[in-house]
Amino acid sequence: MNAFCEISAEKPIYPNTVLLLRAPKPQIHSKQAKMAIIPINLKDGSVVAEQERIIGIDLGTTNSLVAYIKDGQPVCVRGGDGKSALVPSVLHFTQEAAVLVGEEARNKLITDPANTIYSVKRLMGKSYRDVQAIESHLGYQVIDDDTDALVKIRVKDKFYTPVELSAHILRALKTRVETELQATISKAVITVPAYFNDNQRQATRDAGKLAGLDVLRIVNEPTAAALAYGLDKNQTEKIAVYDLGGGTFDISILQIQDGIFEVLATNGDTFLGGDDLDQALVKHFLKLLKIEEKTLTEEKNIGQEIRLAAEQAKKALSASDVWSGQLLGQLITVTRTEFEQLIGDLVQRTLVCCQNALQDAQLSTAAIDKIVMVGGSTRVPLVQAKVAAFFGKPVYNSIDPDEVVALGAAIQADVLAGNQKDLLLLDITPLSLGIETVGGLMDVIIPRNSKVPSKAGRQYTTSVDGQKNLKIAVYQGERDLVASNRKLGEFVLRDIPPMPAGLPKIDIQFILNADGILTVKASELRSGLAQSIEITPTYGISEEDMARMLLDSIAHAQEDVRMRGILEARNEANNLLLAGEKFLQQNDQILEEEEKANTKVLLTALREATKTEDKDVIHTAIEALNDYTMPLAHRAMDETIRTAMTGKGISTTNY
Ligand code: AMP
Repeated sequence: MNAFCEISAEKPIYPNTVLLLRAPKPQIHSKQAKMAIIPINLKDGSVVAEQERIIGIDLGTTNSLVAYIKDGQPVCVRGGDGKSALVPSVLHFTQEAAVLVGEEARNKLITDPANTIYSVKRLMGKSYRDVQAIESHLGYQVIDDDTDALVKIRVKDKFYTPVELSAHILRALKTRVETELQATISKAVITVPAYFNDNQRQATRDAGKLAGLDVLRIVNEPTAAALAYGLDKNQTEKIAVYDLGGGTFDISILQIQDGIFEVLATNGDTFLGGDDLDQALVKHFLKLLKIEEKTLTEEKNIGQEIRLAAEQAKKALSASDVWSGQLLGQLITVTRTEFEQLIGDLVQRTLVCCQNALQDAQLSTAAIDKIVMVGGSTRVPLVQAKVAAFFGKPVYNSIDPDEVVALGAAIQADVLAGNQKDLLLLDITPLSLGIETVGGLMDVIIPRNSKVPSKAGRQYTTSVDGQKNLKIAVYQGERDLVASNRKLGEFVLRDIPPMPAGLPKIDIQFILNADGILTVKASELRSGLAQSIEITPTYGISEEDMARMLLDSIAHAQEDVRMRGILEARNEANNLLLAGEKFLQQNDQILEEEEKANTKVLLTALREATKTEDKDVIHTAIEALNDYTMPLAHRAMDETIRTAMTGKGISTTNY
């Protein structure tokens, strides 16, 4: 409480800044937003004609699939051999500059690695800085001269963006389904990991556009998997979707209630998957063969042969108890029990992620009703057994774990085509979104794990008299100080009509649409001035960064609370110091000399207190000044009123 302020206790006076102060009564509209999102209309609000065919695409890191609804059932389109629905997410650039996609391209990984591109999904929406750490995992050249610009991939003397490369894969999938259906397809639903940020989702949408597909919806992979099992038809349920693929692991906790899907929490490890299980076997084989690991870097062919044998053995051990094979002229045997010992720690790591996700969702394992298995590596019996034991229930694994996401995407496409009217999809945002306020503090507007789409708003005011411009800087992250979070963008609300500080009412709205793209709107309610931006960050955030940001926020929680306390106390003290100086000036005639002197001493003490790193010291000094000046302020106020009543110059006595 500031003794000097006549209108509002929180009247903000803080010079030399164009930052915002929060108005006393925040307004959050998430309830209304939740109700407002019920109709599943398309992005532009148009409605798709009934019975239109929309395809579902699982654009994967290792493999991609396309599915559609045939006679009321989702089916994946299979290759010419009629067998595999998987299209390896691999591209090969031929000598003649033609682009091969899929199996043909994958065969070139060994013979012509420099012109063969894989794992493009890991690069979507990323800058060179983001991917530097994983560059060694890629056999091709990733470049950019400006580290913050979006990454490009060099093939021969040409440069390609991940969007262009993904578009090639999508085009191949489009052709595949068009050949089967003998019809032109132009609309699709594409799935992405639940942790994909705005930029990665936008990049996926752009890739679709480039491939000649109108991407009606970007759907989270776990949501699609749950849809494939028809779990939306049940009453209220909580579902864990455990997705262990070739190179990545994701766990998502979903809730389904009255046909409404919500993702409650996500967790995972971007470098944990079937490849690591293979690697554990490779190491074991090397021991049996008495070959040193460094030999593999020198003799690439030997390495490749051992890796292929390891994957073959791993797959075989999903069905039988023992595997034997000839490797480098020796007979190698490995039992399932041995294999399970080798991979025990890796499987355990996935369970730690499961525990973290449950913690985020504030749920116990017992609260989970169903567990859905996704990804080729969930065929490993130990994985199934450990996951079932962890959750204390059998797992859902009857649908092919490679196809389940694409099948769910086809169901979602069918919903959009207007063929299933009773389904809704809600997802969540993985990191908090907010703006910078005075002192560099993060003011969260949409908290992490909020449902998407969602809308939230809050009112702010200016901090300086006559302030014309307000900078609205948008951040993502969990730390209390924006400096430790990630800046998404900023804009300036210009030409606010001159008003005393604290008078303008700046309404800031965050609108996160179904694809996770954020629009920030700012309006000055008194003048009707408004401005907005759509956040399309200049570069994406890596999953590692995201995990690091979350861990950092936990590790620094105590320090952050302390810093926030100090900064808030300093802001309050600065407001009071300014108001105090003004008060002394304006009431020079009314105050006794001793009162002036005492107030000055207390002001100096407060100024000194703000230099400390102790919020209690600052608060004590604030209280001392307030306690002393409160009666003086009342007296000054009475005097002002009396003067005004007698018609004397109010302008010289007010404050
Ligand atoms: P995905 O990325 O979901 O296509 O998963 C591919 C991963 O699943 C690769 O690491 C494969 O080796 C692995 N995988 C496929 N089939 C099996 C199987 N029968 N047993 C164990 N792992 C498998």
